[in-house]
Amino acid sequence: LQVKRAYNFNAGPSALPLEVLEKAQQEFIDFRGTGMSVMELSHRSSDYEAVHNQAKDSLKELLSIPEDYEILFLQGGASLQFSMIPMNFLKPEQKAGYILTGSWSEKAFKEAKLFGNPYEAASTKEGNYSRIPQLDELNYNADDAYLHLTSNNTIFGTEWKEFPSVDVPLIGDMSSDILSKPVDVSKFSLIYAGAQKNLGPSGVTVVIVRKDFIEKANKNIPTMLKYSTHADNNSLYNTPPTFGIYMLGEVLNWAKSIGGITEVAKRNEEKAKLLYDVIDESNGFYTGHAEKDSRSFMNVTFRVKGEELEKKFLAEAGQEGFVGVKGHRSVGGCRASIYNAVPYEACKAFSEFMKQFQKVNG
Ligand code: PLP
Repeated sequence: LQVKRAYNFNAGPSALPLEVLEKAQQEFIDFRGTGMSVMELSHRSSDYEAVHNQAKDSLKELLSIPEDYEILFLQGGASLQFSMIPMNFLKPEQKAGYILTGSWSEKAFKEAKLFGNPYEAASTKEGNYSRIPQLDELNYNADDAYLHLTSNNTIFGTEWKEFPSVDVPLIGDMSSDILSKPVDVSKFSLIYAGAQKNLGPSGVTVVIVRKDFIEKANKNIPTMLKYSTHADNNSLYNTPPTFGIYMLGEVLNWAKSIGGITEVAKRNEEKAKLLYDVIDESNGFYTGHAEKDSRSFMNVTFRVKGEELEKKFLAEAGQEGFVGVKGHRSVGGCRASIYNAVPYEACKAFSEFMKQFQKVNG
């Protein structure tokens, strides 16, 4: 049976690789001869533990995570990390720099105010977050608790191309571009990401944290909100989201099977180029929201010339089977989210649609 798959440009949760869905379907009822679905396995069983540990190993391999880091599978989404990070690492009298590059970093910043003294280490709000700050715009202090950034701004369509090397613990929200390209994990004390864009279904939050950073955490906080609780128990202190972790492991296997992070990055660059080329060659019919050197390879945000035409564009895109193309209300316009699992063919089809739309309406 040939399944018709949508051209899925949703910002999150978003497309998963077809091969992964098919494998999960095959294993759904009888997981590898256990006579149970993976979600029916005890999280204390060796069958489940193998799934759990294999997902960790694959992530470690794909992102070249050094030995002195813990990989945690948590719940509560990236949004709970906005609170957990300052709860663990910011003391009331301490400062932490937040680099504001969009709505998600603003939300993280707001939570930190509940715990200590966060401040704006840089902001590109002027210009509606159309760029990533230059490294020399950053203002932070060496004795701060940490410096926080958002590596890819899902809503505005901007992405860091090079991370700063700083002498304070660096924390990165990589929810929307983790696993899309190689990253030098050693620059960061803590990386976090909700799984639902590049890693798997929603429900799992990945945290990659330096072991010696965990040791610096505040002690007098709830057990479930301490990183050390999860690190000391291999993320099995309580019942983890077992099915989500299984799916995450399968997505990682898929990434390895296509050639690993270098191949994933190459494909993402090619996909993004297809769409940005149409924008750049449109003589102003399409305008990108992001400044060129800040463009995201994950979320391509753009406007169509004229409000009426933009509405028509979105309506026709929907009719042609392109799902999720309407931009977020804070930017307006259009957004194509082209995460790892969105195939080249989907981007090619969308780029052809954009060209055709301009030809007829331009
Ligand atoms: N950070 C970024 C960059 C995001 O794109 C999102 C969700 O889209 C979040 C945080 C919030 O993630 P969650 O829904 O897992 O809390």
